[in-house]
Amino acid sequence: MASAGDAPSAAPRVVIDVPSWVEPATRSRQAYGTDDEKMALVIDLARENVDRRTGGPFGAAVFETASGRLVAAGVNSVTRLQNCVLHAEVVAIMLAQHRVRSFTLGPPALPAHELITSCEPCAMCLGVTLYSGVGRVVMAAAREDAIAVGFDEGPVFAESYAYLAERGVTFVRDVKRAESASIIRAYRDAGGPIYNARSTPRPPGPG
Ligand SMILES: [Zn+2]
Repeated sequence: MASAGDAPSAAPRVVIDVPSWVEPATRSRQAYGTDDEKMALVIDLARENVDRRTGGPFGAAVFETASGRLVAAGVNSVTRLQNCVLHAEVVAIMLAQHRVRSFTLGPPALPAHELITSCEPCAMCLGVTLYSGVGRVVMAAAREDAIAVGFDEGPVFAESYAYLAERGVTFVRDVKRAESASIIRAYRDAGGPIYNARSTPRPPGPG
């Protein structure tokens, strides 16, 4: 019989992963040449996440900037794992840091890394971007595209971008924006949950 010291910890554990379909979807290519190629991958992930009902309409991935090597990919996992912080960018950054065994993806200990995301980061993800050590961010859909379907993107201001820019992070906008925005709208149109903590109060009605 196990002594008290051998008893399993009662403390909760959180396991963060991606759906099983993500790995084969990213295996076909190890290195990507252009922003368009990288964005095509993360938009495919966003679309697949909607089609397979494994989360919100967002994908992201971390690449080595110079080589174009894919380090880790993520998809929005808020509803699948019942965890409000698991936006695609956060999942990709967490898995990338786990893969390189470092709490920062920034030089000089490592090659420069970049984040490719199918939508402009929300307030949380822009903060995570700052702390992650990535030096470059490429975005498809704009904040307005997510807000238009009801997502709360949080307090992001021009000053927020200036703050990150002063710390060496560069941003590229509107790479395949229309394609990504159409996936976000399709998710809403299919009845996908808009998982903000504070949903709009229901209008009064019968029942
Ligand atoms: Zn986010």
